[in-house]
Amino acid sequence: MIIDEHIREYINSLEQDLPAELYELEKRLLERKVPIIRKEAQTLLRFLLLTRRPERILEVGTAEGFSSILMSEYMPKDCRITTIEKVPMRIEQAALNLGKARRAADITFLNGEAQTILEELEGTYDFIFLDAAKGQYMSFLPELKRLLPKDGMLVTDNVLQDGSLAKSKFSIERRDRTIHMRMREYLYALTHDDFLETVVLPVGDGMTLSVKLNDQIGMR
Ligand code: SAH
Ligand code: MG
Repeated sequence: MIIDEHIREYINSLEQDLPAELYELEKRLLERKVPIIRKEAQTLLRFLLLTRRPERILEVGTAEGFSSILMSEYMPKDCRITTIEKVPMRIEQAALNLGKARRAADITFLNGEAQTILEELEGTYDFIFLDAAKGQYMSFLPELKRLLPKDGMLVTDNVLQDGSLAKSKFSIERRDRTIHMRMREYLYALTHDDFLETVVLPVGDGMTLSVKLNDQIGMR
């Protein structure tokens, strides 16, 4: 937990309920321990979609479709989502769930290794939600930047790893050190890129919002 549990519970208590079907899906997935975005992340995504009104959304990491269905509920009428997943069991479940979504016709489900799929995607996506294998974020970044139009937004989930990212690598268990190093590298890259403006938020498990700028920032 990144922020005080009481504060989180209080904020959660203010948040609006999900549409009934999404609430049921969330409950089923949580029972089966499928990793899905947390309440606070859901609220942030909803806020961003309702205010930014994107035209094309890209999600990396579908799991069983919860966040893509959530996003499809709050995206504009003519917006479409493409979402990517590689694990066969997840793909099977996600296909069932996505097929039942109200906006099923506007969701494209791509199956396979995201790195390969990203390299093949064409056009731009003005809203990208990155929620896949944390160790790969750094290698996805060049493709994600290519796919973002000017003013497009990249949202990354789970960047603070339950707060462990703020700890020294020496206090991290050896097996977790590579991921710790890679995530730090990713956050450094996002916050020091001349063409991205990034804010790191201690929301949920840590999220970043990055916007692709029209011009290099003058003051840097
Ligand atoms: N966004 C989902 C949760 C995603 S969990 C939700 O909130 O509902 C992360 C998912 O990313 C897992 O299902 C995992 O299999 C998938 N994944 C991780 N690395 C990937 C990769 N390189 N290519 C495709 N899918 C990947
Ligand atoms: Mg996540």
